[in-house]
Amino acid sequence: MSDCLFCKIAAGEIPSNKLYEDDTLLAFYDIDPQAPVHFLVIPKRHIASAAALGETDAALLGHVFAVIAKLCKDLGVDENGYRVVTNVGQDGGQSVPHLHFHVLAGRSLAWPPG
Ligand code: AMP
Ligand code: ZN
Repeated sequence: MSDCLFCKIAAGEIPSNKLYEDDTLLAFYDIDPQAPVHFLVIPKRHIASAAALGETDAALLGHVFAVIAKLCKDLGVDENGYRVVTNVGQDGGQSVPHLHFHVLAGRSLAWPPG
C-alpha cells in the first residue's frame, strides 16, 4: 500500500531500528517504547489489522509467534515473560492501520490495560 507507514518501513523507504527480517516479516523497535523492551513485528504484506485475518493466514501467524518466541529468548526476556498485543481499530487504540504485534517486556505489566 503506497501511503502506509509500515509498508514504507517494510520496504526500507523509511528507516527503522531493525531487530529481525526475513521474506515475510520485519521486527523493529518501537519509536516510543512503553517498556524497557518494546518492539513491533509486522508482516511485510499489507494487512490492515487482525480483523482482516482469515484461515489462509494461519501459517503467517504461526511464523509471527515463532519469531516472537525466538527474539524474546535471544533478548533474555523469555524467563520473566512478556506481552504480545495487537490493537484493532479506534477503540482498540490502533494508530497505524497495518497489522503489527507489540512485544513488551522488561518490567511487570499491569492488567487490565488502560
Ligand atoms: P498502535 O497504536 O497499536 O497502532 O501502534 C503503533 C505503534 O507504532 C506505536 O507504538 C508507535 O510508537 C509506533 N511507531 C509509529 N511510528 C513509528 C516508527 N517510524 N518507527 C517505529 N515505531 C513507530
Ligand atoms: Zn501497510
